[in-house]
Amino acid sequence: MGVSPSFQAPAGTRDVLPPESARWEALVDCFARVAGQAGYGLVLTPLFEEVEVFARGVGESTDVVSREMYEFEDRGGRRMALRPEFTASVVRAFIQYRPTTPWKVWYWGPAFRYERPQAGRYRQFHQVGVEGLGSDEPHLDVEVVALAWRFYRALGLTRLRLDLNSLGDGVCRPAYRSALVDFLGSRSAELCSEHRDRWQLNPLRVLDCKKEECRAVAAGAPHQLDYLCQPCSDHWGAVLEGLQAIKIPYVVQPRLVRGLDYYTRTTFEVAAEALGTAQDAVGGGGRYDGLVEALGGPPTPAIGFSLGIERILLACDAEGVFASAGSELAAFVVDVTGGAAALAITEELREAGISADRAFGRRSLRAQLRTADRSGAAVALIVGPEEAAAGTVQLRWLRSDRGQEEIDRAKVVSRLREELG
Ligand code: AMP
Repeated sequence: MGVSPSFQAPAGTRDVLPPESARWEALVDCFARVAGQAGYGLVLTPLFEEVEVFARGVGESTDVVSREMYEFEDRGGRRMALRPEFTASVVRAFIQYRPTTPWKVWYWGPAFRYERPQAGRYRQFHQVGVEGLGSDEPHLDVEVVALAWRFYRALGLTRLRLDLNSLGDGVCRPAYRSALVDFLGSRSAELCSEHRDRWQLNPLRVLDCKKEECRAVAAGAPHQLDYLCQPCSDHWGAVLEGLQAIKIPYVVQPRLVRGLDYYTRTTFEVAAEALGTAQDAVGGGGRYDGLVEALGGPPTPAIGFSLGIERILLACDAEGVFASAGSELAAFVVDVTGGAAALAITEELREAGISADRAFGRRSLRAQLRTADRSGAAVALIVGPEEAAAGTVQLRWLRSDRGQEEIDRAKVVSRLREELG
């Protein structure tokens, strides 16, 4: 063991190295495919925005904004924040460019929240997600939920629970809110130490509190679903009907609220039952029909979701699915004549679209063959002094008992194409 390194990744962050990173590539590829199939295009937004984008978008009183945001002043004196989530950024971009609607986009990348690090909870975590702006049709809600569901299924996850609720809208939420305030007012002494004094600031948040005391009170709280106005009630009914029509199972959770303020109407969360911990949410989303206006744009109904990549991979481990992708290497060149042949052959193979790697450092035949074997390559191409003189290579199959044969150096590409398809 050497001296311990002086620098480590910051608390709450992780390095993702090969071969684990192959899974990340495969996961993002899978998401890109599922989203692309449904007409969603990739959107790339900055990792940081003006603080106000999130303060107004996500909500000043939310934990995400008030306690967890990475804020800084840039060298020009502007207040900036690393994005704690994507939706507000995507909406900011929508308002800036006014694309034609419906505007359907997907994304992936890191988000930052100053949380207490623990299993499945990081300060830099990664999400995949979609946003669909410009339609209030319940079928868009169904499409978005179905897309998330199809993605989880494509990874092989099965032990999932889709929790669904409606949070109403600007018309019916006030009546619900005042019923909730009345209820909480009568039980405030029983709330957790934090909410006992702060519940009035954002009463909905009490329903989201994980503390035993708040949960006990929340169990008897009135439900938004009982207060929906007619249009919200019709929307809710149509979403449920649509999900039933395409056979996506859901559980109505009248107490489901989410940590961000901008949600209206359909709200959902997906829990991975295999995780069996407090950190079992592998994704969530919902409608945010008022957010575009709140950020200064035209009234634009919208819906989206974000799924946590780290949590999804933990769920995959817990279910024993979506194993690390194997090596994609076709050929490994072993050259004991100095390396010129390895250089020429690997580059020729790569130019021809055949993946290839080689050893460095003029190592022995045995050492190079060991590396070839570990690389996962299907075949080793071996060049010794005799092969170099004869213009040939030894072709040795590493994953089958076909043994070894000598072939003409000029035929390497065509032969591998034939064999590897
Ligand atoms: P949210 O934007 O809070 O609804 O989060 C959406 C999803 O991102 C959650 O369901 C988690 O899967 C994931 N997520 C949120 N916060 C974290 C975190 N601090 N660490 C890891 N994953 C997270």
